[in-house]
Amino acid sequence: MSTAVVWFRRDLRLDDNPAWAAATAGHERVLPIFVLDRRLLDTAGPFRCAAMLSAITGLDAALRDLDARLHVVDGDPRAVVPAVVDAVGADAVYLNRDVTPYATHRDHAVEAALTVPVHASWGNSVQAPGSIRTADGTVPRVFSAFYRRWQQAPFPPEAVPGDAQLITLDGSVGIPRTHDPATDRTASAADAEDRLHTFIEDRLAEYPTDRDLPAILGTSRLSIDLKTGTLSAATARRAAIAAGPIGAPFVRQLAWRDWFAHLLDETPGLVDTAQRPEYSAIKWRNDLDEVGAWKAGMTGFPIVDAGMRELAATGYMHNRVRMITASFLVKDLLVDWRIGERHFRHLLADGDVPQNVGNWQWVAGTGPDAAPYFRVFNPTLQSAKFDPRAAYIRRWVPELAELDDRAIHEPSKLGPLELAAAGITLSADYPLPIVDHAAARLRAIDAYKHARSRTP
Ligand code: FAD
Repeated sequence: MSTAVVWFRRDLRLDDNPAWAAATAGHERVLPIFVLDRRLLDTAGPFRCAAMLSAITGLDAALRDLDARLHVVDGDPRAVVPAVVDAVGADAVYLNRDVTPYATHRDHAVEAALTVPVHASWGNSVQAPGSIRTADGTVPRVFSAFYRRWQQAPFPPEAVPGDAQLITLDGSVGIPRTHDPATDRTASAADAEDRLHTFIEDRLAEYPTDRDLPAILGTSRLSIDLKTGTLSAATARRAAIAAGPIGAPFVRQLAWRDWFAHLLDETPGLVDTAQRPEYSAIKWRNDLDEVGAWKAGMTGFPIVDAGMRELAATGYMHNRVRMITASFLVKDLLVDWRIGERHFRHLLADGDVPQNVGNWQWVAGTGPDAAPYFRVFNPTLQSAKFDPRAAYIRRWVPELAELDDRAIHEPSKLGPLELAAAGITLSADYPLPIVDHAAARLRAIDAYKHARSRTP
């Protein structure tokens, strides 16, 4: 009787899961496993860890509905995966690949330790990494060119599970529990599908305008489900396409997600190296006090502080505010984008190496198709444009709540009387700006120009 082991990682669902579909269709017996890899859990940060653990619990619950269970093992995958394979006498291991250098290295090491074949699929993106290339065989460096090819390529069909018998094995460890607020968020694949359909019915039509407003729920909030794989990106695309032309802007965002994964798969070094070599020589200031103020949400720029406080409190930050806070760190404070990337990766519940690195490089101007170096976000103008009624700032920076909708974006420009009327003493109740934006902008442009001039 042929037996397969399916090793779940960040594809924590049974539907539209290529590895699960192939194993359950191609074998008579299947054992689903998850490895608690301490090297990943210890670096994940509280919110991502909690999101992952609740998604694992959700997968186990879905398997229990089928009278099976998720076999959870604790340890180094190089040792525990071969041990499980031996224990059930498996003929093959099935998994969905990931693009990070850590995952690639881990999978090669596990494969080398196994005596049975590994069948690897892609289950994390809409189009498989490596499948969208220009005539010269490389991933397009311009998003619009990638997107065109991405839309024209055939889309993989839905992966439908087969009817293998699901087996269990003694010795499964319990799934650790956390007491983090993120665990309040239910995370099974069924919950993710509910979230997808609620978004499509209630918010998809207004998505193009509402998606830029951090004060309202205008986006899908599906990034955590896409990160843990409780939702397949291909399923999300199909659902948006089925809604008609209004689905297109959302599908485009899924293509951005694919693009960053395809780029990292092709060039793993992007994880910590500027994609545009001319920017490797930027002389970053990396002032640790300023980095500390940025992390604490105490820069004196209300929109930046609101975003950083939202991140610290919830493990999420709105996309527009991610751009503003990241740009502030890199351009206004002239801090190496890798420092910001590590901080976001640690705290974001959806922290995902290709997306985080890709977006940080994009904001820093060091990545492909990024904004030109001399275009520097003005945090105050961004704030007035995208949070015009300041509801987002008031939520996260309550000490400024009494200021009016116009004044709240730049309290340092107010006179003592206006501040006193709102009950604020600057530097006592709320910090003075830690930089002068106009001067910082010129300093950043100079630093980028200088780095460019040093590149032959
Ligand atoms: P929606 O607007 O509903 O978008 C739908 C989906 O499309 C998202 O869930 C996401 O999977 C994808 N998407 C949307 N925007 C982007 C984008 N700019 N790049 C790539 N994919 C996108 N996203 C992550 O998933 N993980 C990260 O670690 C991450 N780090 C980021 C760091 C910075 C500096 C910036 C500017 C953006 C980052 N993003 C990251 C992208 C984006 O901010 C989030 O995906 C989005 O805010 C999640 O909310 P949502 O699901 O409601 O988005």
